Amino acid sequence: MNNMSIEISTIGSGSKGNSVYIGTKDTKILIDAGLSGTKIESALKDINLSLEDIDAIFVTHEHSDHIDGVGVISRRYNLPVYATEGTWSNMPQKVGKISKHNQKIVYKDEGILLNDIFIRPFEVPHDAKEPVCYSILYNGIKVCVATDMGHITRNVIENIRHCSALVLESNHDVNMLKLSNYPYALKERILGKYGHISNETCGKLLACVMNDKLKNVFLGHLSQDNNTPDLAYLTVANILDEFGIKAEKDVNLHIAKPYGITELIKVEE
Ligand SMILES: [Zn+2]
Ligand SMILES: [Zn+2]
Repeated sequence: MNNMSIEISTIGSGSKGNSVYIGTKDTKILIDAGLSGTKIESALKDINLSLEDIDAIFVTHEHSDHIDGVGVISRRYNLPVYATEGTWSNMPQKVGKISKHNQKIVYKDEGILLNDIFIRPFEVPHDAKEPVCYSILYNGIKVCVATDMGHITRNVIENIRHCSALVLESNHDVNMLKLSNYPYALKERILGKYGHISNETCGKLLACVMNDKLKNVFLGHLSQDNNTPDLAYLTVANILDEFGIKAEKDVNLHIAKPYGITELIKVEE
């Protein structure tokens, strides 16, 4: 790895479990650990890493697809876990005991410095207690993870602007969801202001924050029932095209796999 580059890839994405790996030569973190320790360990092996190499886990919110592996991994590897007070107070029992010294609190808009990277949580509109997403700064490079949002706020846009790589939610196709056999209340939840954003909203948001440095975007948290990788890709690519941005030529759109390393992206200044 180039000495001054930052790496990013998704390890899991979607309702079966989310985790994003971000690393520099000195610091390696996971954003969420919603899969088992075994699964994360085996995915990391594909990029020649192990959970032993990970320095910390940053949790976005307490939904089980983001925290299922957090307790086990923290205990086994003595890893600090960072989350907001609201997330900590709503962490489900099944996560198990995380030792006091590994329970770290983050505050929205207040970044923390972990070795050579600066990690800043920002508020997102989602139906959890105090959900955040994260932007990570290293050597003038910014990478962001933004999933589990019901709508786009100015705050979200401000926080993910100027990034060089991005994991962005592209949860569902609105028509597929509306026509699906999901219960009415669940459809309302997903489509609501504190649910998840659609492919179309994802495309518009991406067009809005597009910049010359942004060359790699992972479309993530795809619904397995109300979306397909092709539909997510085409919808987002078509919207970008309306703004004069060409997928593949101007920006690579990667569909984050439900499980496993999607592609390891190295970003240099
Ligand atoms: Zn959620
Ligand atoms: Zn989720």
